[in-house]
Amino acid sequence: MIDYKVYVLRLGHRPERDKRITTHVGLVARAFGAHGFILADIVDDKVVSSLTDVVKRWGGPFEIIQGVNSIEYIKKWKKMNGEVIHLTMYGEPIDYVIDQIRYNGRDKLVIVGAEKVPRIYYDLADYNIAIGNQPHSEVAALAIFLDRLFEGRELYLKFSKWRIRVVPQRRGKRIERLEKPHCKTCRVNARRESG
Ligand code: SAM
Repeated sequence: MIDYKVYVLRLGHRPERDKRITTHVGLVARAFGAHGFILADIVDDKVVSSLTDVVKRWGGPFEIIQGVNSIEYIKKWKKMNGEVIHLTMYGEPIDYVIDQIRYNGRDKLVIVGAEKVPRIYYDLADYNIAIGNQPHSEVAALAIFLDRLFEGRELYLKFSKWRIRVVPQRRGKRIERLEKPHCKTCRVNARRESG
């Protein structure tokens, strides 16, 4: 059992280019055990509705937030004794710090960027962590970070309020569907913030 929350904050989303990759950041956050996803400094209802749809069908809980001011949000997170972990190829190797992060009991805000991340985020972060020092992808970096944090247990997470789920098979596909959803309204916690 973990005694802290993990939220993923996506920086630098460009609606005209990044819809798919930002949606994948959100999907990886949910599937790999984070409690929420924050689309910072911008609103993109298409991304939010794709993620909301997945939560409604495949379960949660998973909170989706958009439109927050990233700097204010990070500062508030730190004020509430949460820690901020920025994933960047320029950071220190994950192996040096992951045990300390895993066992300190603090809520974790994991930041991933799109293009160049401004210097202020490096300064605000408690940790700047590299998943190797080669450039690759925010999706890959996030998946590996969460997998190391949760030590592989996230792959066996049970989601609640699902309407559809996979029954694992050696061959072929088997899906279980709920005739009656767990709750009729199945409210997903997605919100938009201004400022
Ligand atoms: N050169 C860019 C930079 O400023 O880090 C790479 C941008 S990359 C397309 C987008 C995001 O992927 C980065 O902001 C970072 O969060 C993540 N990323 C890419 N490679 C990484 C690595 N080796 N370790 C950790 N995160 C990485």
